[in-house]
Parts: sequence; structure tokens; C-alpha cells
Amino acid sequence: MNEGCRIEVRGTVQGVGFRPWVYRLARRAGLAGRVWNHPEGVTIEAFGGSGSLESFVQWLRDDTPASARIRELRLSKIPLEVAEDFVIEPSEGVGARALSIPPDLATCDKCEEEVLDPNDRRYRYPFTNCTECGPRFTITTDVPYDRSATTMHEFILCPSCEREFHDVMDRRFHAQPNACPECGPRLSLCEPDGTQMILDDPLATAVGLLCDGAILAIKGLGGFHLACDASNARAVQELRMRKHRDEKPFAVMVRDLAVAASLASLTTEEKLLLASQERPIVLVERRPDATLATEVAPESPVLGLFLPYTPLHHLLLREVDRPLVMTSANIAGEPICKDNAEAVVRLGGIADALLVHDRNIAMRCDDSVARVIAGKATVLRRSRGFVPRPFQLKEAVDRPVLACGAHLKNTFCIAVEDTAYFGPHIGDLETLASMEFFEEAVDRMQTILSVEPKVVAHDLHPGYMSTRYAKTRWASETIGVQHHHAHVVSAMAEHGLRGPVLGIAYDGTGYGNDGTAWGGEVLLCSTGHFRRLATFRPIKLPGGNRAMREVWRVALSLLHDAFSGDAPVDDLQLFQAIPDESIRVVAQMVGRDLNAPPAHGIGRYFDAVGALVLNRPGATFEGQVAVAWNVIADLTERASYPFEIDRTGLLHVVDLRTMVRAIVEDLTTNVAASTISAKFHNTLIKATATVVRGLGDVIGRPPVVLTGGVFQNPILTEGVLAELRNEFKCFTHSQVPPGDGGLALGQVLIANAIAAEGSTPCA
Ligand code: ZN
Ligand code: ZN
Ligand code: FE
Repeated sequence: MNEGCRIEVRGTVQGVGFRPWVYRLARRAGLAGRVWNHPEGVTIEAFGGSGSLESFVQWLRDDTPASARIRELRLSKIPLEVAEDFVIEPSEGVGARALSIPPDLATCDKCEEEVLDPNDRRYRYPFTNCTECGPRFTITTDVPYDRSATTMHEFILCPSCEREFHDVMDRRFHAQPNACPECGPRLSLCEPDGTQMILDDPLATAVGLLCDGAILAIKGLGGFHLACDASNARAVQELRMRKHRDEKPFAVMVRDLAVAASLASLTTEEKLLLASQERPIVLVERRPDATLATEVAPESPVLGLFLPYTPLHHLLLREVDRPLVMTSANIAGEPICKDNAEAVVRLGGIADALLVHDRNIAMRCDDSVARVIAGKATVLRRSRGFVPRPFQLKEAVDRPVLACGAHLKNTFCIAVEDTAYFGPHIGDLETLASMEFFEEAVDRMQTILSVEPKVVAHDLHPGYMSTRYAKTRWASETIGVQHHHAHVVSAMAEHGLRGPVLGIAYDGTGYGNDGTAWGGEVLLCSTGHFRRLATFRPIKLPGGNRAMREVWRVALSLLHDAFSGDAPVDDLQLFQAIPDESIRVVAQMVGRDLNAPPAHGIGRYFDAVGALVLNRPGATFEGQVAVAWNVIADLTERASYPFEIDRTGLLHVVDLRTMVRAIVEDLTTNVAASTISAKFHNTLIKATATVVRGLGDVIGRPPVVLTGGVFQNPILTEGVLAELRNEFKCFTHSQVPPGDGGLALGQVLIANAIAAEGSTPCA
């Protein structure tokens, strides 16, 4: 008996070869009917025997193409039609919201094989792609996602490519960026001044240069990288010098998992993450015998590794046959460089040559960063490979909302109905150029989503550039959201939690409702409300922001507090290198409360104690000392330091002064830094668990969520989970960054709740 069935498919189902795949399945099942794209997704109408229909639906569910994400498959019966064949019908609703533009997709196995096959017409062709892989978001200029709305529109398909494009049985059927050596983009190698070198094989010359220790600017998917041989200390040092780069670790690209495993000890989860389609930079532990220049990641046992994600990368890495430093080409806080002419101006002074091509990048998109924390893949920077993949919300927002994110590591977010879309990683909003990138990226996302949100959320900090942007934007409602509340709600959203939850939000700094810097917060949260239940005793920051880099100031302030104004500076090596006069002035600032604002951030404790124990008076970038301090911890050490919790007020306050005194004692008796670091971490873990248990005794056992940049630290996350897991249901981040890069999602939901209720968010 023949019957008819309509199947509504929702999710990332456009630009990923979904319709041809449906077509092939329908043919296999011997069904007639049709499939078409429209703004909400894909609709299939199929007619045939009930058994065939059943297997067809089963295949749809089980055998989805790697790059598609089916969120919903809705079936309904429709009257039987007499149809001869199965056809792909033209798309509906041109100009409507392209809910489903996929992120850029790492080169698939089939394309990789072709590129490496001397008999294939795409042998060594760096721009090979198909419906399952290739550039998407970074070449898209408009909707609907069609070649004419990408930067590929200027390349006219040759007859062979044209045939593939129109052959429904071909892997490249409707592959919008389809290209070959005949008709597609071309590689060229340029002098630092932009003059194109006349070469038969620019790729081979580039490979030769890299092997000889040169620094190359290489145009990638979402921007330029600066590259050099990662095993050549002189080359890496030279890159550091030319880039005027502090000591931040450089990311390293390796040709495959085997090389990755020779440089770092990898768990199964880490291997899966490295090979995942998003191809993020994965933070892993360096092997002591890794053949890498130490300058790649000075003083750090943590390496950022990633695998090739374009054919150009595959070819380069195979042909140089050694790991390459591949660091984003962004200079001094500016966004990643994307255009050829811009690259000559900005990178000409750094690179010995520029490996460029003539496919334009429409949208910058930096590499994503991820790490396995507590056995779970956790995105730390959500950008290339993820953007603009939709994030499913538990409940729809009432009206579209734009959330402007934080000031540092900015990412914005737009929510429409039951879906949120993160923008690309923008970086620190400290320069005009990054502010321009922010505005351009917001505009582009609005275009491809066809919305212009009238509800705009921002951080409470009046000085954030993202806050200022929100306030100058025309909106019917502009809503300020407390930083740590937003962190907690962003973690809640990942797990579909409505609250109340106990949110543990630990980070460097965030503007509190009382105008002071918070960052060691335990908040009882629902989406629209929060109550601050506990915090850490604040540390005064002499000189304000200056103390972030001159971390010895924070250390002195901490000691001043712990020793009641009588910091034992003479006993401590850290202060030997600091002029007495500076110590005196800073001590005075603390003692008399002169330009020494209090800060509750856990990050400041890391800075202060790290500086003290490692004898590091300064940091060249924020968080440097904290990370160096974290990685040395001796994980076999179980002991901790004493601490106190002041429960006299409504707000419980963790007081670590006894810990600080004990650390000084350990230091003066030459206890190893690795032991002190471990005991320090154990103390924070114990203090957190004690606070949560104490609150739990009063308010019951709500779920606990861990959020904020400090929880990028695996020791702390794993420690707190181990302490609390048996008594509370605990949740951590995974798809949304725990740090400020994930903040905007929480801002979206809180602003939506406030706009709906007209309520005030805090108590
Ligand atoms: Zn492919
Ligand atoms: Zn072609
Ligand atoms: Fe934060």
C-alpha cells in the first residue's frame, strides 16, 4: 500500500549537501516526491510503500552527513500523490532569514585524498572543497547562502566544475565554493612589499622558505597566520621579536594525530577534540621529549596544538614535514588581518614573504580554542568552526535580543526565537580597529539572520566599549546585566536549567552592583534574578589596573592585609628586586586607601600568591602569572592551608589571611613552589566546597554550576567537582566558554527576562 509523508527538518541543514543526500536516500528507497529549502529549514514530501518510507526515515535519522545537525525531524501523513520521480525543488523564501548557514568546515577525507592523489585533477590544489567541507561563514556576504552571495562569485565555474555542480549524484552538487585549478582561486607568494614573485610553484617555494627558517604570513580561512618552523628556536625567537610579542604561547599546527602524540601526551578525548570537525586549537600537556623550540611556549608545559583544516594546510604540513607555529596575525590588540593589501601594510615588516590567494575573506574568524577539562571537551574560545552554528535555547526569547558581551575577549550574541547565535571572537575592545570589527561583525550577523534586535543587553561596567556601543545604539530597551549573573546564566543555558541554581562564578574581574570589582562570587540565580550569597575577602589593588601587570603590588597588598599592615617584605625574595621607595609608596596607598580599589576576583589571588612564590614581580599579559602558578602544582600533594569563613553578615565572606600567613611560613622554610601551588589550589577547592555546603544547609540542594574564566583551570574545576559531586548535581561549561567569551549568552537571556518582567535583576 502506497502512502504519503511530509518530513520537516530543522537544524543546520543548508550548505552541507543535505538535499542531495536526501535525494540519494529517496532514490535508494525507491520513493517519489520532493525536497526543498526554506527559511526555517528543509521540507521533504515522499510517496511510496510504507516499508520504504519507514527505512527512509530511519536512514534520515541514523546516517546524517557529518556537517549537518538535525535538531528536529517532524513527520506527518499527507494524501498520496501520483509522482514519477524524486526531485530537488528550488528554494523558497529568498531574502528570509538564513537560519542555517553552516560554519567553515574542515577538509573532508575525500577532498584530502584528491589533493594528495597525483592522478586527480585537483592534485595539490589548495582550494579543493565539496558539500561536506570548505569555507562557508567566512566567505558569506549575504543570504540566502548561494555562490552569488559569497566571495566566490567572481570565479566562473569551468565546464568540469559546472558539471559537478549540477550533477545530483556528485559530491559537489550545489557545493557553492566549488573550484579547481582551472577556474578557482590561485595561490601566490609575495615579497614583504607586496610584489608578486614570478614562480611556477609558489607552494613549493613557500615550503622551502619555511624549512630554511623564514617567517611567512599565510592567508587562511578567517584571516592570516604568521608561520614558522616550530622546531627551529632561532626562527621562533625571531618571530617573537618581530611581533613584539610578550611571552604568550604560540599555537602549533601538526600534520596529523601521530605527530601531535609525539609532542604531547594525549588522552582519547583530546585526540577526538583535535580531530573534530571544528578543528580548534587544543590545549594539551607537552611531553618532556617533544622536539619543539622552547620559545614556542616559554615556561609552559601546556601547548596549543591543532590539525590542518584547509587543503593548503594539509599540503604545507606534509611538505614541510615538521610542526609549524601558526599564530593569528593580529598585532597589538588589533583584529586578525584578513585582506591582502592590509597584510602587506601590517605584516610586511614581520614576514619574510606572504603566501596569499585571490579568494577574499568576507568575515574575520579567528581559530577556536578548546581544552579537555574534567574529562569533557570545553570550548574556551568559540569562533572558526563554530560560528554561526545555532545554539538551541530551552525557551524562546520574546523579541530578538543582541547582547554586546564583555570588554576583553569579546564575543557578542544574537538570539531569535529559540535560537542563539554567537558572533566570532572579536578580542579585546581596546583599539579603534577592534571596535570597528565588532560593529562590522554585528552588522553582518544581523544581515544573515535578517533581524535588527531592539532589545540590547550589555555589561554593567560603564567603561566597557561594548557598554558604550549598546548605549549609542538605537534600541527600545537597553538593559545592563551584572557580569557574574551573566556567567552563571550562560552555564545554566548550556544545560537547560531554569534555576534556582547556586552559581560559583570565579574570574579576574567583573563590575558588581555595588560598583566594586567582583569575581569570587557564589550567587543564587534564576534567569531573571540573583542573590549574592558569598564572596571572597577583597584585595586592594594599589594603582588599579596597573596592578594587573605589576603583580607585586597585589602581593604586597595581600600581605599588608594578612599581617595587619606589617608585611614581612624583608623576608621575601620577591621584594628584593623592587626599590624600597616603590614598596613604601604602594604600602601607603594600601594603608591609606589611596587609589587602591578593593577587588574580590579569584584571579587576583592567583596573581598575588603566584608573584610571591614564583618571584615574578610583573606580567607581560593579564593572567600570565596565574597560569604559570597553576601549571606547576604538584598534583600528588593533598594538604591545604587553613582558611576562615565569616558568616556574621548576610553575605558570607571567605577569608584567606591565615592561608597567606601559612604560605609566607612555607616560603621562609623553603617548601617547594610546586607544593605551595598545590596546597593553594586545594585551599580554594576546600573553601568553595565549605561555602557551598554551608549555604546548602540553609537553602537546600539546588544544582551547582561552575563558571567564569578561573574554571578554565582544570585543577580547580576537577577539584571542586570531586568535592561536591556526591552532594550536589554539578554542571560545567562545554559548548559555551566559561570565560568572558561566553558571557553574551547569559546577557541575552537575562535581558529577555528583565524586558518581559520589567523587574530588577538583583537583591
Ligand atoms: Zn570535501
Ligand atoms: Zn573548475
Ligand atoms: Fe568574567
